[in-house]
Amino acid sequence: ATQSEEKDLVIIGGGVAGYVAAIKAGQEGMKVACIEKRGTLGGTCLNVGCIPSKSLLNNSHLYHQILHDTKHRGIEVGDVKLNLQQLMKAKDTSVNGLTKGVEFLLKKNGVEYIKGTGSFQDEHTIKVELNDGGETSVTGKNILIATGSEVTPFPGLTIDEKTVISSTGAIALEKVPEKLVVIGGGIIGLEMASVWSRLGSKVTVVEYLDQIGGPGMDTEVAKGIQKILKKQGINFKTGTKVLSGEKTGEEVKVQVEAAKGGKEETLDADVVLVAIGRRPYTGGLGLENIGLEVDERGRVIIDSEYRTKIPHIRCVGDATFGPMLAHKAEEEAVAVVEYIKKGYGHVNYGCIPSVMYTFPEVAWVGQSEQDLKKADIPYRVGTFPFSANSRAKTNLDTEGFVKILADPETDRLLGIHIIGPNAGEMIAEGTLALEYGASSEDIARTCHAHPTLSEAFKEAAMATHAKAIHF
Ligand code: FAD
Ligand code: NAD
Repeated sequence: ATQSEEKDLVIIGGGVAGYVAAIKAGQEGMKVACIEKRGTLGGTCLNVGCIPSKSLLNNSHLYHQILHDTKHRGIEVGDVKLNLQQLMKAKDTSVNGLTKGVEFLLKKNGVEYIKGTGSFQDEHTIKVELNDGGETSVTGKNILIATGSEVTPFPGLTIDEKTVISSTGAIALEKVPEKLVVIGGGIIGLEMASVWSRLGSKVTVVEYLDQIGGPGMDTEVAKGIQKILKKQGINFKTGTKVLSGEKTGEEVKVQVEAAKGGKEETLDADVVLVAIGRRPYTGGLGLENIGLEVDERGRVIIDSEYRTKIPHIRCVGDATFGPMLAHKAEEEAVAVVEYIKKGYGHVNYGCIPSVMYTFPEVAWVGQSEQDLKKADIPYRVGTFPFSANSRAKTNLDTEGFVKILADPETDRLLGIHIIGPNAGEMIAEGTLALEYGASSEDIARTCHAHPTLSEAFKEAAMATHAKAIHF
């Protein structure tokens, strides 16, 4: 085994958390090594998560729109055919371009990229089993655990990525399933249900709770988007629990019953997607070798400066607390390097946006109505529908609304919730406003260009403390 010079920072994992920390630390003049076992950088997000799923969402939406949403716009199209292989190739091109781009950025910032699996030998030494064979070790003054997450399995249903799939299989199917059953109506479930339903599958989403959308989505918004997705052809079974699943040859039978108990029902599928959440991944890291513990949900235990109980070993991203989102991992990655280098850093956990990339998109930041009710916080609501927004009307995409929640006394923003075309871009404005402690009147008095979708945001703010003009 060879050993390289001691680093200021050794990072285990080259996902969003790991690679962003590596670049930032390189920029700060630190000597950095980043260990990644996948063979490419970018982690779940770039390889099998955010990026490939958005490629499929974008192109399946185009296909669906050309099939069903052109005639009344004055566009007559001829023979429209799906070329699934090419759709997947377009996805792979985006992924490859981005992961190579990250590799270039690491090189540019002087980071040593080690392709292999890292594990703790002692508190400062990481042993690496190299992907190309052999072993090395690297020592660091500081170590960052950025090993991410993996799919939570459903007991009794073994994932083979062909008939019983996780999101990784769902972005790489070789043919469009006739019948797709999705277990879990969270973000992954709904994004993947959208893709395959648009491409022709008969999709049924089974969700344990009474509301879809996963944790954090405002109930009114969840109900609104469920109605829209149902109109698009997706079948929902909410308040329903999956009891078991059985694979027989090419088919899967999924046994379900009402969550509160009741009649059992069997759903037939040729593909079942397990999308009931993700769990931190620390397998094979050798945390036990240095006495580091995880909590009951597998999360690496850290303090407010991302330190484990061994202070020079820190953890950020999906492997620890907080929402499993790429931009949250990225914020933490920058902050953790600042803590190491300067002694202070900053992430505002009350101000992390969420986006679901269905059509229309769903986006939110801050607290939901149910959050506020639960915490007994008084609030005022202002809403504005896209059916009253000139640009949405012009584009013939009028589904959805903007909803703003503000403090009734001070008018300070508490939460912003949007269903609508481009909601994922529009939420940036809401996030900035929330971060700066704006009031709904601040937004209402800010001039917004006409005709834009963002006028709906301004008018929802007007409706929060006074009245909207166009509704
Ligand atoms: P990861 O991205 O999981 O990276 C960890 C890396 O560490 C992996 O590459 C792994 O191979 C490596 N690793 C683990 N152990 C070792 C070891 N011992 N040695 C060496 N390397 C190791 N988030 C969003 O914000 N927006 C989205 O649109 C979005 N879409 C998603 C879609 C899907 C289908 C999925 C599954 C997730 C999506 N996410 C999205 C979530 C997002 O992917 C994660 O929050 C993000 O990837 C977390 O980054 P991370 O670096 O903490 O972990
Ligand atoms: P999730 O936690 O968002 O949703 C899981 C859903 O499954 C929940 O609604 C839950 O009630 C339901 N569920 C759990 N057990 C069940 C059971 N036995 N039967 C029926 N339903 C059950 O998890 P996910 O959708 O798997 O996504 C994992 C993570 O990846 C999330 O943290 C998510 O934020 C992230 N992600 C984000 C994006 C995005 O930002 N656009 C996209 C994909 C994934």
